Amino acid sequence: MTADKLALFGGTRAIPPRRASRDLVGWPVITDAERKAVLGVLDSGRYTSNSTGNGEVQLLEREWAAYVGTAHAAGIANGTAALEIALAAAGVEPGSEVLVPALSFIATAVAPVHRLVVPRFVDIDPDTFTMDPAAARAAVGPRTRAIIAVHLHGLPCDMAGLRAVADDHGLLLIEDAAQAHAAHYRGRRTGSLGDIAAFSLNVVKNLPTCGEGGLLNTDDEQTHRRILRLRQFGEDLEGRRERDYISRELAGNAKLSAMQAAFTRCQLARLDEYHAARDRNVRAMLTRLDALPGLRTPACPPDRTHAWHILRFRFDPAAMGIDGAHPGAVRAVLQRALRAEGVPVSPYQLAPLPMQRALRTREGFGGYPWLLADDRRQEEAADYPHTVAVLEDSLTLQRLHLNPNAGPVLRDWAGAFEKVWEHRDAVATAARSMVYTPAWHGPDWTSAEVPG
Ligand SMILES: *Cc1c(COP(=O)(O)O)cnc(C)c1O
Repeated sequence: MTADKLALFGGTRAIPPRRASRDLVGWPVITDAERKAVLGVLDSGRYTSNSTGNGEVQLLEREWAAYVGTAHAAGIANGTAALEIALAAAGVEPGSEVLVPALSFIATAVAPVHRLVVPRFVDIDPDTFTMDPAAARAAVGPRTRAIIAVHLHGLPCDMAGLRAVADDHGLLLIEDAAQAHAAHYRGRRTGSLGDIAAFSLNVVKNLPTCGEGGLLNTDDEQTHRRILRLRQFGEDLEGRRERDYISRELAGNAKLSAMQAAFTRCQLARLDEYHAARDRNVRAMLTRLDALPGLRTPACPPDRTHAWHILRFRFDPAAMGIDGAHPGAVRAVLQRALRAEGVPVSPYQLAPLPMQRALRTREGFGGYPWLLADDRRQEEAADYPHTVAVLEDSLTLQRLHLNPNAGPVLRDWAGAFEKVWEHRDAVATAARSMVYTPAWHGPDWTSAEVPG
């Protein structure tokens, strides 16, 4: 016997409203430790990264370097600024190119542009959702200086594959680990796998602060010193009793605040415990979902661990027994059906990054950096077939599963998926009657100003 009809079509919701209480799914988890630490900063009068000695920022930097396994770590205002500084500190010059995966958060592409570096997009591996090393190799050109390896959704990239490409072409390997704190690759932590690594401490990430923050890890002493300069107007503050007001190179202000660092230190003390609980909760859910035909749960190759920052599920209409419907239509109906049951699935990224209007128009800064590289290529979504396929046939779960107490909610979600799968025929009927158009064909994405 199948359960009641789908909530989308008037049946009872699988999950009653308000079941996902703040105790179960609130993120970040805030305890008395955070309250005490933040108030402690307020009372200390030491609010910035510039305080000498054992300020909260310096303590976080030391603890994070030790945790990741690098010689150095530096607190930065946010993850995007951390990526920009990573490029500058590593010596990626204006007019050069970096390889960026076609599926990522916009920050990965905007950071190079802000440094007048051209992002060259590379398709992903359809199972891991991270940059495909073979596609990266094919994309290397005479101006390519670095690879930005994004450990998307919390899964480390194929770093051996990317390292081989980097070594063969003399490229730097920069990690964008904003989504992958505490993940391992061949026994080493993310952040210690490339030449330099950027993390975000944004409130939604696995290692959050109460707002915005970032960190940069490197083993290289010179690079680290340059990072410290680049976050503070090009000045050298370290080892100086008094500020000398000499800007040794052009740089803005991208320091981390002490309040942010104090909050994150409390989270860092519980990072492993939370990761272990999340790992259990998520795996229990994925094991159930693996039994559903045509539902592809996130892969995790045996040489790495997954931080489970975002859970992405792909849907294979044929294996679901659905024919005559576009995967994008099936995905759209599943999104409505699952949400109606109480599962907060949503897309994460609507289009390949190069389809973002901000990049496609090549307007940049008066046409730069593309004018520097004389780059007039017209990007097409079809250049990134795996990215397109993944975007069209998948949905994600975000943030709520990060709470270590979310186990019961994930069980509810699994139950709701099972219910929707029992009603695949109703999903198929709805999907067949839908006209699917890719998001990036919509008026918000296209622009008359794209150069021909
Ligand atoms: C969040 C994120 C960033 C940017 O971090 P912010 O702290 O929000 O600036 C960069 N890259 C990826 C992959 C991210 O998910």
